[in-house]
Amino acid sequence: MSIFENASFDNHESVHAFFDPKTKLRAFIAVHSTYLGPSAGGCRLWSYDVSDDALTDVLRLSRGMSYKNAMAGLNLGGGKAVVMRPEGPEGKEDGNFDRDALFTSFGRALDNLNGHYYTAEDVGMSPDDMRVIRAQTKYVAGLDEGEAASGDPSPVTADGVFRSIVLAVRKKMGCGVEGLSVAVQGLGHVGYDVCARLHGAGANLIVTDINQYVLKKAREQFGAKVVDLDAIYDADVDIFSPCALGAILNQETLPRINAKIIAGAANNQLSVPAIGQKLQEKGILYCPDYVVNAGGIINIAGEIEGNYSKAWVEEKLSGVQKTLEDILDLSARTGRTADVIADEMAQARIGR
Ligand code: NAD
Repeated sequence: MSIFENASFDNHESVHAFFDPKTKLRAFIAVHSTYLGPSAGGCRLWSYDVSDDALTDVLRLSRGMSYKNAMAGLNLGGGKAVVMRPEGPEGKEDGNFDRDALFTSFGRALDNLNGHYYTAEDVGMSPDDMRVIRAQTKYVAGLDEGEAASGDPSPVTADGVFRSIVLAVRKKMGCGVEGLSVAVQGLGHVGYDVCARLHGAGANLIVTDINQYVLKKAREQFGAKVVDLDAIYDADVDIFSPCALGAILNQETLPRINAKIIAGAANNQLSVPAIGQKLQEKGILYCPDYVVNAGGIINIAGEIEGNYSKAWVEEKLSGVQKTLEDILDLSARTGRTADVIADEMAQARIGR
């Protein structure tokens, strides 16, 4: 395993590896930048085949958090944690792994960084896990109870995604979303809420998910048309909103997507940067994911910075929408892709 030679290494300020044989903890925390403040980003629990994959993930995701936090106008740098899911089932019996013990161990490791990195809930984690970590360290945010708790960030993320879609539609199509069709991939915490907002604004929905329950609900509540997982890419729609997985904009899906606009919550939607250019050549306006989905970290940042209030979150969320508007205007004027413009803005804001 090499760090400096890893293709995703981007002059990260520090990369930490943690190991506890008693609890089976194997985790990485990467601090990409503290230029704007202490680093912050979620903690992910995921099954990785090899630790190199976990390292690549933490390097890539922490860099993304630097960009996201900078674009959201936060006094936070970028960091991320990944915990490698131990093999076997959960449980206190021999051979299993004890989830609480695992996150107690992780919480102690995190505390040793003395506030260089703040964590929050990410893929594979639950509010209970966050409470276990919080028992060991104060460098945790996005909690659902306690004095400064900001609660579930997903509704704020969904709000930002919805506003970004409305903005992109106005810029590209010169109209509102009423009567337009939107394909939403993934109806989880964020995607379902995005659907509710779009439905409320009069849009027609085409949706997919692996979870049949949410699909049934979306059909009943929003009159959404349900399609198979893979068919979402072929949907004949005005807008495509990826709210499930990363890297779904790739060589395979590119020829199939017919939408005029792509704006969704999923992180790292472009499989490689070059796809951004290819989307533009197809006449598709791609809204940079880390600008569109910054609502969640804005909500969490209020808790870290100690000034959480709905008004503060609203001000920051409006600010990131203004930034997105600047990016889209500059892209329209110069013919350069929105994702490249966003990257350059983010790099300038973190002094790179
Ligand atoms: P979630 O786990 O609640 O929802 C994800 C949904 O996608 C689930 O319903 C799942 O069943 C579905 N899904 C999984 N595989 C799928 C597939 N192949 N095709 C279609 N659907 C599939 O997650 P979330 O909190 O809603 O986040 C969604 C995305 O947005 C993630 O990529 C996350 O990293 C990103 N994001 C979330 C937030 C937030 O505040 N929650 C903030 C920023 C970015």
